[in-house]
Amino acid sequence: MILIGCKLTNGGQGAAGLVYTEYTLEIFSYCQELGLHLPHLLLPYLLLGVNLVFFILTCSSNPGTINKTNESLLLQVYEFDDVMLPENLRCSTCDLRKPAQSKHCLVCDWCVHHFDHHCVWVNNCIEAWNIRYFLVCLSTLTASAATIATLSAAFLLRLVAVSDLYQETYIDDFGHFQSVDTVFLIQYLFLAFPRIVFLLGFVMMLSLLLASYLCFALSVPGCH
Ligand SMILES: [Zn+2]
Ligand SMILES: [Zn+2]
Repeated sequence: MILIGCKLTNGGQGAAGLVYTEYTLEIFSYCQELGLHLPHLLLPYLLLGVNLVFFILTCSSNPGTINKTNESLLLQVYEFDDVMLPENLRCSTCDLRKPAQSKHCLVCDWCVHHFDHHCVWVNNCIEAWNIRYFLVCLSTLTASAATIATLSAAFLLRLVAVSDLYQETYIDDFGHFQSVDTVFLIQYLFLAFPRIVFLLGFVMMLSLLLASYLCFALSVPGCH
């Protein structure tokens, strides 16, 4: 499941460049003109900075490698059950006894305590000792997507408020005067600001997916 979350996180980070470019070009500069507070507008950039720090930590930190020094200590962390987690197994490559839930990573060529998977995106194993960095990385990515979604929605609402559009009337297909309603406003925003509306829809969907996975990851014992 962490593997699925890793792919989701990678996808989110892959889209981050596009989302932040759209946010900067389409919203950031115009939001200031519309009177939104600058600290709120800068929050996504702050979250991006924190996210990048923890992304680098996930890439570069020791995931929980097993060596001669910590071998006997790690053998006591999880219990063997002689079925799924048999005792007295030895890694033929590292020549070390294998603690329960450990595995030899073929990419890194080392044995890792509480192995989950090797993540190609961070070029490191995601395991016992760096899972916290991964979760903070996931949390800040979720928060940045949710913040951009909120600011995008606030931007569109402010545009409608400033334009007084909701007080206008229009002539429908039958030649009758109609007051502007919510459906008309949504159609107008789609036509006038399609990129911002699509950005809003995308980051809302991304926020929900990332938040759902984050809740799951935090509820799994051993993941934090
Ligand atoms: Zn090994
Ligand atoms: Zn690895």
